Amino acid sequence: MGWLKNWRRRRVLARHRIDDRLWIAVVAGLPFLRGLPAHEMRRLRELALLFLAEKQFTGAHGFALDDAMRLSVAVQACLPVLNLGLDRYDEWSEIVVHPGDFKVQVAETDDHGVVHEFDDERAGESWPGGPVVLSWDAAVNAPDMNVVIHEFAHKLDMANGEADGMPPLHSGMDRRAWAQTFRVAYEGFCDVVDREKETWLDPYAAEAPAEFFAVISEAFFEAPNETQRRYPDVYEQLRLFYRQDPAARLPA
Ligand SMILES: [Zn+2]
Repeated sequence: MGWLKNWRRRRVLARHRIDDRLWIAVVAGLPFLRGLPAHEMRRLRELALLFLAEKQFTGAHGFALDDAMRLSVAVQACLPVLNLGLDRYDEWSEIVVHPGDFKVQVAETDDHGVVHEFDDERAGESWPGGPVVLSWDAAVNAPDMNVVIHEFAHKLDMANGEADGMPPLHSGMDRRAWAQTFRVAYEGFCDVVDREKETWLDPYAAEAPAEFFAVISEAFFEAPNETQRRYPDVYEQLRLFYRQDPAARLPA
């Protein structure tokens, strides 16, 4: 049914557009988009328009979403797939936005087989096939994180099953090189966190390889020069995976 989808997309692009003032205001609020060349900015705008047409936004607990909020999420969600295509997000359609961090019930089994149930505060969440859930407050006010890119990086990771830090790689990419590079970086990072030293990345990245991939994906887009300096091998793998080189376009 690829032709039907393409036909629908062409029709959306022909009949709809994002208001100029809204676009300029939203882009101005996302400084990491600076440096995108004009043709990529145009493609990002088209992807965002299609994203808005194809995905369903829901405000949790009656939270009222306006056009600028929806567009901001759409633009940040589309940046990672700028050169991969929107089809990467085909398996699900809903985005739920909470006004602030939200509680989820978590059940964890310990080493003795005992299940512990507790409420956990989250800024974002996503499951295979399910919606992306975001805290608007975290999306706007958390200076050191990009919860939107984080959750959509998980979505890309989940395209081949559970989030495990190993998304489906492109042909020509080396699985072993990816696994080795990320294992070394992750283990080194966990070691620093274990020794309770300051970390440049959010220490949450030490939770699991999937979290390391999502957190360093945020850094790849938001602070690419520093990511490349600190994690050159990981940066190179991400550059191959996202088919973008943000450090080349953003001033150091
Ligand atoms: Zn995560």
